[in-house]
This record gives sequence, structure tokens and C-alpha cells, in this order.
Amino acid sequence: MPTDSQSPYLPFGENKHAAWYGKDILSVKQFSREDLEYVFGVAHEMRGMVERVGTFDLLKGKILANLFYEPSTRTSSSFTAAMERLGGSVIPINEVKYSSVSKGESLPDTIRTLECYADVIVLRHPETGSAAIAAKAARKPIINAGDGIGEHPTQALLDTFTIMEELGHLDNLTVTMLGDLKYGRTVHSLARLLSKFNNIKLNYVSPDILRMPKEVMDEVAQKNIPQAEYASLEKVLPETDILYVTRVQKERFEDPADYEKVKGAYVIDPQVMQVAKKEMAVLHPLPRVTEISVDFDEDPRAAYFRQMEYGLYVRMALLAMVLGKA
Ligand code: ASP
Repeated sequence: MPTDSQSPYLPFGENKHAAWYGKDILSVKQFSREDLEYVFGVAHEMRGMVERVGTFDLLKGKILANLFYEPSTRTSSSFTAAMERLGGSVIPINEVKYSSVSKGESLPDTIRTLECYADVIVLRHPETGSAAIAAKAARKPIINAGDGIGEHPTQALLDTFTIMEELGHLDNLTVTMLGDLKYGRTVHSLARLLSKFNNIKLNYVSPDILRMPKEVMDEVAQKNIPQAEYASLEKVLPETDILYVTRVQKERFEDPADYEKVKGAYVIDPQVMQVAKKEMAVLHPLPRVTEISVDFDEDPRAAYFRQMEYGLYVRMALLAMVLGKA
């Protein structure tokens, strides 16, 4: 991605600067196409600044509470890095078992507590809708970092930023989502977000018990986006521009026997990828388990490690936006 002054993104509209100040980020439904251009433009600037100066004082004196009720490596540490690179600081609550949550404190009360000390709260929680509940209790901005099987909006924003950086456009794409489309919250957000672009085709490849929820498909259908479901990747891989691979979400299965049946359903490796286009990209929100072979990592189409880095810049942009400094 070019990081000189020649930004590939539109110049920022004046009104956009103020529009996100103090806002919660709960769902991708909040973002118009114009908002996305704005986020990507700010993220691009952030990348340039990190490469030039590393850390700078845009959010000096601001505090982020990073409240994680579920495990996280990338989301938690990239929000921490984002805040610190912007000169702010972080209250990390990664192990809620060491907080008053283990004494039975409710989510709204925990949120009310943290907002006394922080300017923005990033929340990951196992229950769908929890970010909205937190936002209702809070006066400060809440950023949804994954609410159960609901949404993971900041991941979808970084996924689309990655597509833009890797392929240079977000229109005219065939995107194939593979794996656990039922419990994978990242694909729920990504399908919704991609439906805002032109001439998008979405393929969903999954075992029967892990199909994309009807609710998401219905929303996407309202935007007149063609969607098709498959059990096997074979037919759609050759036409795919973005292959979005997901992990089977073991922790969300009610019956462990069901997980055993589907856990190794798909494996992407150099041989499988022989029929794919030369100009395409493979994304994965990570962590991966067995669904992408490490033998594929050196392939130029393997974009999942670059995708993690883009997450830092997108999260820097979002923090600056909701704190009124973008
Ligand atoms: N890290 C992503 C998430 O939190 C994907 C995953 O866990 O499989 O949803």
C-alpha cells in the first residue's frame, strides 16, 4: 500500500470529522459507503504516521478500557497498541475472573465503573447484543469487539480495508466465505458490509450444520446481492477474488460430537489453491487451527498476516474518530 501523500482514498469530507465523535461502534450497519471511505482514508494516514514516527500524541491523556470476557490475541493487543501509538493509555481487563465480574457484577455496572476512569471502552462478550446493552448504560463510546455469535464490526472494517489494500477495489468482487458461517461472527459482519458495494457476489461454503444464518442472508438479499450456498469449494474457487476462511468455532457448539463431525471439513493448501486465480487474496480473521495449511503461508495470495497489521491502523482510526481527533 502506498504511504506517501498520494492517498488512494477520497479526501475527507468536512462533516465526517465531527460525525463519529462520542459515537458507539456496535454494528457494521452504522457504516455507509462514504463512512467506509472515511475510515480507510484515516487508517491510511495512520499507517503513514506509524511508519514515519512510530508513536504520536493525537490521543495524549485519553484512556481506553479494554474489557474482554472472551479470549483474544489480535483484537485486544491491537487496540492496546493503537491507543499507545496514539499517545494514550489503556486499562486492560483481559481476565474478567480477576475483576468484580467474578463476584457477580452485572455488565451495566461494570461499564458504569469503567467509564468513570476511561474515555472509551472496547468490549468483547460472549452474548449477542451485549455491546448494545453496554452502550445503553454508558455515556462514553463503546466499541464492540465481538458479541458472541453476533457481530465483530471492527474486524469487518479491517477485512474490507485489507481487500482494498490487496486488490485496490471493493466493487466487482466474488467473495467466497468458507467454514463456520453459523457461529463465525466475523462473516456475519463482513457479508453485511460487503453488501454496500456494487456488483458483489457472495458464495457461502460450509457444512450443512454451519450454514450462514437466514437473518444475515435476508439482510444481504435486500441489497440485491447474489448469494449462493455450497457444501464444497471446488466449483467456486476458480471464480473467487477473495477467499475468506474461518475457524470452526469449537467453543460455541452445544454438542461436542457435532464439532468432531465438522472440525476438519476444509483445508486450504497449495494443491487446492492451484485452480484459484493468480490475482486474488486469502483472508482469515485468525486464529487458524487446521483450515489453512502452513505450507500456503509463503504464497503471495496469503494475505492473513498482512490483514492483522491493517487491523492496527483501522483501530487507530476508529479510536481517533470516536474521541473526536480524526
Ligand atoms: N478472532 C475472531 C473472532 O474473535 C475469529 C475467531 O475467533 O475465529 O471472532
